[in-house]
Amino acid sequence: MADVMAGKVAVIGSGLGGLSVAISLAQQGYSVDVFEKNGRIGGKLNFLKEEGYSFDLGPSILTLPGIFQRLFEASGKEMADYIPIRRVRPHWRNFFEDGTVVDLLPEPELMAEEARKAGEDPVRVENFLEYSGRLYDLVDRGYFQQGLDTSKEFRDFYGLAAFPKFDLFRSMHQSVCRHLKSPYFRDIFDFFIKYVGSSALRAPAFMNCLPTIQFRYDLWYVDGGMYNIARGLGKLMDELGVGVHLNSEVVSIGKEESRVTGVGLYDGTFVPADIVVSNMEVIPACRDLLKEDRSFLKTLEKFEPACSGLVLDLGLDIEYSQLAHHNFFFSGSQKDHFRSVFRKRVLPDDPTIYLVAASKTDPTVAPDGCDCLKILPHIPYIDDENPISPGEYMEFKERIVDKLERMGLTDLRKHTVFEHVWTPRDIRDNYYSNMGSIYGVVSDRFENFAFKAPKHSTRYDNLYFVGGSVNPGGGMPMVVLSGLNAARMISARDRNE
Ligand SMILES: Cc1cc2nc3c(=O)[nH]c(=O)nc-3n(C[C@H](O)[C@H](O)[C@H](O)COP(=O)(O)OP(=O)(O)OC[C@H]3O[C@@H](n4cnc5c(N)ncnc54)[C@H](O)[C@@H]3O)c2cc1C
Repeated sequence: MADVMAGKVAVIGSGLGGLSVAISLAQQGYSVDVFEKNGRIGGKLNFLKEEGYSFDLGPSILTLPGIFQRLFEASGKEMADYIPIRRVRPHWRNFFEDGTVVDLLPEPELMAEEARKAGEDPVRVENFLEYSGRLYDLVDRGYFQQGLDTSKEFRDFYGLAAFPKFDLFRSMHQSVCRHLKSPYFRDIFDFFIKYVGSSALRAPAFMNCLPTIQFRYDLWYVDGGMYNIARGLGKLMDELGVGVHLNSEVVSIGKEESRVTGVGLYDGTFVPADIVVSNMEVIPACRDLLKEDRSFLKTLEKFEPACSGLVLDLGLDIEYSQLAHHNFFFSGSQKDHFRSVFRKRVLPDDPTIYLVAASKTDPTVAPDGCDCLKILPHIPYIDDENPISPGEYMEFKERIVDKLERMGLTDLRKHTVFEHVWTPRDIRDNYYSNMGSIYGVVSDRFENFAFKAPKHSTRYDNLYFVGGSVNPGGGMPMVVLSGLNAARMISARDRNE
């Protein structure tokens, strides 16, 4: 506990950003209450257990566990005692329409073999990963660790002379192509943009820092399923005395001039607070809870949503031995895939598909001899003025199964004994994410240069935001970082630092 006894905090939402800020502030002596509209904590970190199969409905890849470890360390605890994790090999298995299969592995000699198999010079891969590592170190030192939010903070921290190091004038794809020659490797490394639900054609080149997250810090699984992260953080919150109020939707944020006064709940109760932190995304919170005017909401339009997804969970009565834990079935034209999802905003004809078979690592998630698959093609966020119909989503689902059957999962339909589908509407309804986005705000060099909204409200002195819609953006470790950084900003301000 810190040396100051600080004020009363209301956190709206128990996604990982909300849990992270709640834990960090409680560790510093604040009295914290979390209000969650759903019946369990975790937000998009969610699960489905049916008929002997257990699916991660949301995230399935854990990276940068060191960021989560910081939450436990601050309480003098070990993360391993709360969340059991293990390394996954290979990281990803990549399938192409012509039958080529390439694994990603962090061991340089094994990766070199995979590169040769796909006609890529291993030295090029090495050089690309070095370039990625340099970008990662640069981005990490300021944007991640200091929690920089504005271009002024960027200039002050890095200095103008450092800007060229960010590879500012290229897209992610252009820089991938400068380094790598094999079309397979270009597609694979372009698709690291999946971690933030954006397009490699439109994302700035410094997003090529993403492979380092995996190649340097490894890729992890949580035994028993990803939801054990929420269970572990929930236990830590209980130990810290954080109040958790489930089935408690916040319908308004009270405000008086440049300050907020607390949160209004669905049942008419008003809970006063010295500080409010919203883990509801910035745009829906400003529109629905603060009822901001149109001109203010217009200033937020550059924080366009990242993509959404069709979440298809299948319980099978067999195992497909060719699958690894994490698999990608690549589009015949990934450029068309990116253009369809991010520019034309239509369902792609031939998407790149992410498929998780957690049963490859964890026998507890499916009956013996069976696979459980989560299949996640990225698709456009919801456009209410030009909606995609439920029937179109279902036709798209059939296209996905056709593609997987064509690419080696023979008789997938015949072997499916359990099926569950979520469309972007389910994602929006469940988490109130902006237009069904799954990673918060898109990273786009022409819209926002990969900046997300700031964590401190520009209108209200004691209102903060955490989660995928603020810097540094979506993905589990990043939203945890937003919570850690927001807590640091709040306590620094309260100490007048
Ligand atoms: C299908 C899918 C796959 C993904 N895969 C990965 C992956 O493999 N690896 C990875 O790192 N990330 C992945 N992500 C992204 C990751 O899950 C998110 O970036 C992260 O979990 C979002 O956390 P958040 O803090 O933004 O909050 P969210 O998870 O968005 O939670 C917000 C919470 O606030 C609650 N809430 C909203 N409004 C209110 C209100 N008014 N009152 C009360 N409660 C409210 C919601 O119910 C929700 O619980 C995936 C996401 C999805 C959906």
